[in-house]
Amino acid sequence: MTPRVLKLYNFLSRKVEEFKPIRETVGLYTCGPTVYDYVHIGNWRTFVFEDILKRALLFNGYKVKHVMNITDIDDKIIKASRNQRLAFREIADKYEKAFFDDLAKLNIIKADIYPRATENISSMIQIIELLISKGFAYKTDDGVYFAIGKFKNYGELSNLSKRKIKTGARVAVDQYDKDQPADFALWKFPSGNTPGVNQAESLRTPGVSQVDPSWDAPFGKGRPGWHIECSAMAQKYLGDMLDIHTGGVDLLFPHHENEIAQSEAATDKKFVNFWLEGEHLLVAGEKMAKSLGNIYTLEEVIKRDFDPISLRYLFLTAHYRSKLNFTWKSLEAAQNTLENLTEEVLNWDDPKIGCAEFEGNFAQAINNDLDMPKAVSVMWELVKSDYPTSAKHQSILMMDKVLGLSLDKIKPEKLPEGAQELIQKREESRRQGKFEESDELRIKLQKMGVYVEDTPEGPRWKVKSKSK
Ligand code: AMP
Ligand code: ZN
Repeated sequence: MTPRVLKLYNFLSRKVEEFKPIRETVGLYTCGPTVYDYVHIGNWRTFVFEDILKRALLFNGYKVKHVMNITDIDDKIIKASRNQRLAFREIADKYEKAFFDDLAKLNIIKADIYPRATENISSMIQIIELLISKGFAYKTDDGVYFAIGKFKNYGELSNLSKRKIKTGARVAVDQYDKDQPADFALWKFPSGNTPGVNQAESLRTPGVSQVDPSWDAPFGKGRPGWHIECSAMAQKYLGDMLDIHTGGVDLLFPHHENEIAQSEAATDKKFVNFWLEGEHLLVAGEKMAKSLGNIYTLEEVIKRDFDPISLRYLFLTAHYRSKLNFTWKSLEAAQNTLENLTEEVLNWDDPKIGCAEFEGNFAQAINNDLDMPKAVSVMWELVKSDYPTSAKHQSILMMDKVLGLSLDKIKPEKLPEGAQELIQKREESRRQGKFEESDELRIKLQKMGVYVEDTPEGPRWKVKSKSK
């Protein structure tokens, strides 16, 4: 299939550009989770946006090689390990598993490779050695640092004004402020001084190592900084030059900026052609973030009786470059809309030839920098149209390849035994004007979990679980 023209907003040029891949297979790198706790639904907004991007590439006929890293060693994991008195591996494994469970519930297509930082330390060491030999990195008492002043394009992606860049200032922590561009740690020597760790408390913890996890390296035993892992794993699995790299906008600086500096200083090649950054999910106007204490997990969404796919639908109602304010009310509205949609699809004939008009408009929306709100509205125009239901069915399944609402898995609900007869009996009573009798039958059906609605086309029923 010949790819159509896909246009994407590139943060590097700050323009919408036509996407052209470097090789036949598109190299896509998406920054993955730090597995120190449950991923929150703000993180999931970014991961769903990345899933839509990948589906849009596939929809356009591209082959995609997708790599997402798992950060299983950093300040936050060490802090969690010390404070929860568990080995860092136990913390990382527990939350990595939870991440994959949630991923499946949101119908996100799995990446081709999920490299773990701890399994790719030698690749990181190689790049750091190269950076030292080329004069971009230097050693201090507490680690090896990247000298941002030596890299002439530093700040290009995040548009940092040059005057803010202080040569010689250094930060050891993995995450730091937008206003502090500074030399950053590529490698950290064990200090026993991880930020946020209660040392006195952790020293009393039996069975948990008091020393930061470390690996041997020519420049000294230690552990990698956060930024180097993405450069190393991207290069290892996708080559020196990538087509697309993504994350949430909070990663633009310093993380993505630092990735560019390390990678390009090492290879002398352009690291990434397209940088796409997803906007945040907010709560009461503020970024959803663990540090602000305003997070919700997918588990909580499910506990409140929401289908994870409703959350996915909610994410689709906003463009990925716009902020989205999360409320339970908006999730409820998304769930109701999705239920209406699945009910419609359930009553349609089997898919046959689709509607070219709507399929074309849908493709146009997708290819216009992933305009999902528009794509969803085209889908609804199709649903409300007068086309035969077999055609609508065909087209909606094609659209769902990008939307990922699992519309191909909708199966007619099964009525409990005896319910079909009661529905028929109730309909007869209604036709004969015996409304008291039909009401009694309605209540009887409700007790079985069957809810009947009268429509001009006859009675429609829904089976609801007792918990809803
Ligand atoms: P982290 O595990 O903190 O590195 O975050 C994983 C991904 O979630 C990154 O791409 C972040 O940019 C993204 N992210 C974090 N908070 C939010 C939020 N409130 N809304 C959308 N994406 C977010
Ligand atoms: Zn990254």
